[in-house]
Amino acid sequence: AAKQAGKGRHAVFDPTMSTAVLARADVENGLRQALEDDGFVVHLQPLVDVRTRAATRVEALVRWPRPGGLALPAEFLPVAERSGLVRALGQRVLRTACLRLSGWLAADRRRSVSVNVSPVQLREPDFATTVLGVLAGTGVRPGQLLLEVTETVFLEAGPRVVGQLDELRAAGIRVAIDDFGTGYSSLGRLQALPVDGIKIDRSFVQQIGDGADDQPILTAMVTLAHCLGLEVTAEGVETGVQAARLVELGVDHLQGHHLARPVPPEDLAGAVAAAGAVLQAAGDRSAGRGREPVVLLAAPD
Ligand code: C2E
Ligand code: MG
Ligand code: MG
Ligand code: MG
Repeated sequence: AAKQAGKGRHAVFDPTMSTAVLARADVENGLRQALEDDGFVVHLQPLVDVRTRAATRVEALVRWPRPGGLALPAEFLPVAERSGLVRALGQRVLRTACLRLSGWLAADRRRSVSVNVSPVQLREPDFATTVLGVLAGTGVRPGQLLLEVTETVFLEAGPRVVGQLDELRAAGIRVAIDDFGTGYSSLGRLQALPVDGIKIDRSFVQQIGDGADDQPILTAMVTLAHCLGLEVTAEGVETGVQAARLVELGVDHLQGHHLARPVPPEDLAGAVAAAGAVLQAAGDRSAGRGREPVVLLAAPD
């Protein structure tokens, strides 16, 4: 491992080691090198469409293979953002995801890929042009791409950021607010934001089943988003109880370990099939017990 670790700077890479411990300069140099060597991989996590119960969307999540294992975004994204390398990294992830998924997407127009975008990328004046160029180069339809941005993007949103999003949305690309509910934007601001959907943060999802029998905040989020014509995804769904409740609440897409974990692209077909079987199986089981098949019937039309 020491030999591969780049001129013996570190003997071992411990994937749990924080960026505070691993010198920032080392991470930055490593990232630069990985960009040069095509050293990042993109894992894919299937999302399940509640209405059809099929996994027709996947989120692209970047990973950095290191001698000691796969490094997760939390370990290197902060450095990538502060150094500006996240612009090249983000473009690489988008391109890789589109390349890996072009066949899967072309086979069914209802399929889509979701890609995370850093606020640093959105401040680039040619961001929209770059994204459209990647789509043109990989043959992916704009209508099959979603971009996930966090609420913080809109706090500082100058006309440039809004302009980029408007340009992308005019081309048919959809935009969703990631980790919704954790930032500062009020529910009331939602109406003014140039977005097509929200992804409810897992901290709200994980309160389901912890004893409280109603979830007023969750209910309000789903209701308001739908009133505004926005699509709702719940992330971090880890249990069948959470999944069933979210389906009852009318959420459109479910994402989380209960449905599927992120997988390397070569395992996508299996993961998509398994994820699609989860809600189906829940409905079959409840029907088999002679109960109302809540999961099947509660799905909105
Ligand atoms: P995110 O966009 O909210 O992505 C979901 C994160 O939750 C992923 O972590 C995923 O592996 C994890 N996850 C999925 N299902 C569950 C679950 O049931 N329970 C729990 N506890 N976690 C679950 P990951 O891959 O470590 O990514 C962390 C964050 O890094 C992402 O959060 C996103 O904000 C950012 N990120 C990932 N890839 C990229 C990228 O290519 N570009 C940018 N700018 N950011 C990225
Ligand atoms: Mg995301
Ligand atoms: Mg998310
Ligand atoms: Mg999240």
